[in-house]
Amino acid sequence: MSLILVHSERFAEHQTPPGHPERPERAEVMDVIAARWRGRGTEIVAPRAATHEQLARVHDPDYLVRIAETAGRAVALDPDTYTSPESYEIALLAAGASVDAVERVLGGSHRAAMAFVRPPGHHAESNRAMGFCLYNNVAVAAAHARALGASRVAIVDYDVHHGNGTQHIFENDSSVLYISTHQYPYYPGTGAADEIGVGRGAGFTLNLPLEAGAIDDDYQLVFSTIVVPVLLQFEPDLVLVSAGFDAHERDPLGGMRLSTSAFSAMTADLRRVAEECCRGRLVAVTEGGYDLQALAASIDGVVDVLNAPSAEGQTGHWQASGITSKRGQSTADAARSAHRAAWRL
Ligand SMILES: [Zn+2]
Repeated sequence: MSLILVHSERFAEHQTPPGHPERPERAEVMDVIAARWRGRGTEIVAPRAATHEQLARVHDPDYLVRIAETAGRAVALDPDTYTSPESYEIALLAAGASVDAVERVLGGSHRAAMAFVRPPGHHAESNRAMGFCLYNNVAVAAAHARALGASRVAIVDYDVHHGNGTQHIFENDSSVLYISTHQYPYYPGTGAADEIGVGRGAGFTLNLPLEAGAIDDDYQLVFSTIVVPVLLQFEPDLVLVSAGFDAHERDPLGGMRLSTSAFSAMTADLRRVAEECCRGRLVAVTEGGYDLQALAASIDGVVDVLNAPSAEGQTGHWQASGITSKRGQSTADAARSAHRAAWRL
């Protein structure tokens, strides 16, 4: 089996106040997509809860206690981030789904996996909940891959927001490369091109901040001139994707103008890298995405790319928009100058 989806119908139990963008309908969209792929023969498995040991690789012990204490309660952890009585348990399943996906792909039973999770994770810091995120699912996944023996793990985050938590957790670490495309300036405020990592991790954080209004062509340019060349030089043992869908043109939170097909195209680029570097080993973990129609169509396209028998399938091509935009070029120039010492670009 080439692809597995890790998904739990229980994700809908993580409910947030009415009007909150992380509303339960988002989990229902994932239920519909999972059911559709099950009907096409894709294997769907229910996740196990992440263990304390798995979470403690990236989160402080005090923080884990604080989140565990929200069990059975509705708590506001920060202005955007609430728990329902079930959130603690569901957040453990979200992190556990990401771990499970990594185990199956590194174990060789599946070439690729996608973890359909909520709450999302990439804003969660080692010691702080932020931006709807409790545990940093993709960071827990990367740390688990390292613990299982992967020498180099790449995380590519195309959510419209910068993954401050993921960056900070790995900014000192040259074994985990973090690459993010995001709207900038924007929430959470981090992710400037000159944030390149710290100490031994210098060069292994690669930010691609894009001005609001960026289109498919801008993303295509930064993927082809920066993201893909850096990944090929890094030679990851596993490619992780923080798959957020809020850079879609229909998204009510993000200010980007990506088409549905851009998400397939980015995923296809990453799949080709994974095939070249690590026998196709790729795990996508969902992040944001707040227009339900765009979310459903975009996730479906991503699963289609990951499920195709070869990377050179019929889906996942960039489509020229016919609009002129210089946003991608200025982002690529900034990245090239910030990373002159680390990468050949
Ligand atoms: Zn987001």
